[in-house]
Amino acid sequence: MAQLKIQRPKGTQDVVPSQMYKWNTVESIVKEAAEAYCFKEIRVPTFEDTALFVRSVGDSTDVVQKEMYTVKAAGDSEFTLRPEGTAGVIRALIENGVLNEGVPQKVFYVISCFRHEKPQAGRLREFHQFGCEMAGTADPSADAEVISLAKNIIDTAGLKGIELHINSIGCPKCRPAYIKALKDYFSARSGELCDTCRERLERNPMRIIDCKSPVCSAIAEDAPKNIDYLCDECAEHFEKLKEYLSAMDIDFIVDTKIVRGLDYYTKTVFEFITTDIGAQGTVCGGGRYDGLIGTLSGKDCPALGFGMGLERLILTMENQGVEFIQPHTCDIYIASIGQQAHKRAMRLCAALRAEGVYAECDIVGRGLKAQMKYADKINAKFSVVIGDGELESGKAAVKDMNSGEKTELPINDSFSRAFSALMISHMLDSEELGDTLSDILSELPSSQPPTGGCIS
Ligand code: ATP
Ligand code: MG
Repeated sequence: MAQLKIQRPKGTQDVVPSQMYKWNTVESIVKEAAEAYCFKEIRVPTFEDTALFVRSVGDSTDVVQKEMYTVKAAGDSEFTLRPEGTAGVIRALIENGVLNEGVPQKVFYVISCFRHEKPQAGRLREFHQFGCEMAGTADPSADAEVISLAKNIIDTAGLKGIELHINSIGCPKCRPAYIKALKDYFSARSGELCDTCRERLERNPMRIIDCKSPVCSAIAEDAPKNIDYLCDECAEHFEKLKEYLSAMDIDFIVDTKIVRGLDYYTKTVFEFITTDIGAQGTVCGGGRYDGLIGTLSGKDCPALGFGMGLERLILTMENQGVEFIQPHTCDIYIASIGQQAHKRAMRLCAALRAEGVYAECDIVGRGLKAQMKYADKINAKFSVVIGDGELESGKAAVKDMNSGEKTELPINDSFSRAFSALMISHMLDSEELGDTLSDILSELPSSQPPTGGCIS
């Protein structure tokens, strides 16, 4: 293997061509699901003003405190590579006046995110998220709808045993009483907490519940629960959400330990969790953030959304042995012997591609044997050899690489149409289509009428 001095940065991944089909599978699943729920795609910059993340994600969160990649180019202000999608997308909706176009606004995106974390299985420094945001509705049915989109993706991906955990973390009205109760509880045991959690005690005690250290999470086990401190509005919202989820046959677990790592959340928070990929089992996390748009624009507008980690989704699919959509391989390889035949092969390939056929011919200068070996290696579905004899007769035998069956086709400008028909007839393996192929072949304008039919 080639020895490169410079390697990819720690915590990043290359996706080599042979693995791309897994990414294409999940990207098509998430996009089709989002579109079926009538979400529209949005694209935003990879970096934003640092202040955007400090104000929306929250300056006492791990993400802002420790994990941001912040860059400053000469003469520029300070920018940060997005650690998550919501802040930038909400900024874009506000800045472009999209929220004035009527509500709800429902958008989705597939993006890369950057966090300076300790790399491990399912935790990278550059990772990818499918995210969606819905703005302009405070109704609990919207929460159920967003959760149902995530569930739809998980089901379509063929995943089993992924649990939905939900919780409510209240609103600015009811949260202060809860924070006080938490502070009282953790202060009494502050000596046992990890250093980070001792700091969190003053600035953001809810984060202690999220701490991954076994000691802190054991202490957090008996901590006061947010759902016992909800105001009437938040309690009713949570009850209604549960009713909507039940109405949609979506199973859930009320999990008071779900608090989410970002400051902007209010009321509903949720995670989809798997036990199949080790410690980093949260495949999807999200919730409601009714205060964020007001914080950024001065104009209140309730909203909610989620982020789904695509690396973790793929990892879970791999570990559960789920099928990915196989990549489309070469439909036909056109081998050639000699200059004239090579030119014809190039011409035929171009015409085939214009018809949407995946076609290849030799561009290395290989001999016939090596060309055929290559056709095998790339799993070409059909092959054809063009030499002087074929140029002279104007016909060549197209071979089905699977069955060995050969069909003679004209190698003039009718080739691409004739080959498309042949391919369909083989794909469907139907006699009727075989007849259709004969009809098409007999109708083709050709100076040298093709004979069609099977020659071996
Ligand atoms: P975690 O539980 O891993 O700390 P989080 O609460 O920090 O996740 P969110 O900010 O909610 O994560 O991001 C949404 C989703 O993005 C997560 O549920 C996870 O699937 C994925 N994700 C977050 N951080 C990473 C990472 N460093 N590497 C890979 N995927 C990640
Ligand atoms: Mg995290």
